[in-house]
Parts: sequence; structure tokens; C-alpha cells
Amino acid sequence: MPSLLVDSHAHIDTPRFNVDREDVISAAFEAGITRIVDPGCDLDSSRFALSLAKAHPGIVFAGVGTHPHDATTYSDEVGTYYREMALEPEVVAIGEFGLDYFRMLSPRDVQRAVFCAPLQLARDCDLPCIIHVRDSHDDVIELLHALGQGLRGVFHCFSGNVAQAEECLAFNGLMLSFAGPLTRQGNALPEVARLAPLDRILVETDSPYLVPQPLLAKRNEPLFVKHVAEKLAEIRDMAFEEIAQVTTANAIRLFGLGGFTR
Ligand SMILES: [Zn+2]
Repeated sequence: MPSLLVDSHAHIDTPRFNVDREDVISAAFEAGITRIVDPGCDLDSSRFALSLAKAHPGIVFAGVGTHPHDATTYSDEVGTYYREMALEPEVVAIGEFGLDYFRMLSPRDVQRAVFCAPLQLARDCDLPCIIHVRDSHDDVIELLHALGQGLRGVFHCFSGNVAQAEECLAFNGLMLSFAGPLTRQGNALPEVARLAPLDRILVETDSPYLVPQPLLAKRNEPLFVKHVAEKLAEIRDMAFEEIAQVTTANAIRLFGLGGFTR
């Protein structure tokens, strides 16, 4: 039987999976990726992620949130819908949300304003957060110091350096998640991945983006999370099975994905 893995972040609700979504989910499951967390990026995608989770109980789980790229679509009304959806047992996280100053598809002040509501929602619902950080580390840390004490969650697709990782890990309830960039050259991620405490790391694909190297696929999918786990095992000089076990246990604990055995 293949080692069990969790893809802690895969946008399988996006249209790029319209032609073969069910096949993608089964291919991952058959290969041992028995749980997938699909974080919404706006109201519609959060709703779709929830419907996928309902259609695949114990396999697909949903997050509800507005991605920083879509920050201008957020409103109090949207927040009210998220609050209702967060009561559903298939919703295991608030997110993804965060700040993205790399692409800056929404104005910085809007992104910052929209960052606060999901923190409060996560606290009220006692759910973990899925936080997106891209070229925005200092602002995210500042806002978390002001509003994020006691929160649980994950910095998804962590992309910073060791000093930034340490600032993130200073929040006891937060983990770092590694994706395809860990398999690429020219970044500080191997060093971060070597130093992060074993009980605070997750793996993900961020499908359909960030295909791990050396794969040549144009679209990433949950099946490929094993390449991220393999790289992590190599960096930490651990057996693949051990990394699979540790990251799966972390994801189950963080998102409350228990109660399901293959
Ligand atoms: Zn994402």
C-alpha cells in the first residue's frame, strides 16, 4: 500500500479541472493521497470547494475565503456567507486569504483591510487559517502581531528565508507548508525545510499551479504532492515513509481530518 499523504492545498475547484476532476481525485486517492484540502479563493470558489467536499466525504475538505488577488470582491455580505458555510463539517479552514504584493492584483490598502475579517472568523469558529504571503512578509507579521495571537493555521506555499520562517514559527499555532518551489533551485527553502520543527510542516501542491521539478506537466495536480514530500525527505535525510507519516499527522491535527481510514 502506498504511504498516505495529504495535499494540504489544492485548487481542484478551478476550471482547469473541469474536464477530468473526478479522475484527478481518484488518481490521487489510489496513489495514497487520501485527503485533499481545497481552499476557496472567492465566494463562488468557496461554494464549489464545499460542494466538492460534500461529494467526496472524508477525501476532499474545503476552506472558505477570499484570495488577496480577489480582495476587491470581498464585502461584509460575503463574510456573512463564509460564516454560515464555516458551520458545515466539511469546512476545515478559513482561507485562503493573505497579502500578495508580488502580483498586486488588488490595491495594498484593500488587501490589508480584507485581511482582518477572516482572522476574526477563524477565531470565532475555532478553525485554522490558510494564509497566503507573497512579498508581503513584514505586513503579514505586523497584522498577526496585532490580531493573530492564539490563532492556528498555516503559511501556505512558504516562500521566505530562514529569518522570516523564524518570525512565522514564533506564532506557536502556525505551521509552514512546502510546495513545488522546494524542488527548484535558487531559493532558501531547503534551508528553511531543514530547520523547521517536524511537528510544524505540511506538504501541498497549490494545484493547478507550481508543478514540481523535474515534471514537465503543464498543470499541477494532487498526485504530484509526493514529489514535494520526496524532496523534503531528501533535504531532511529521512525516509519518505517517515516524512509522509509526519506531514499527514500534522495535517490531520491542524485541520481536524480524523475519523477516516482508508
Ligand atoms: Zn492557493
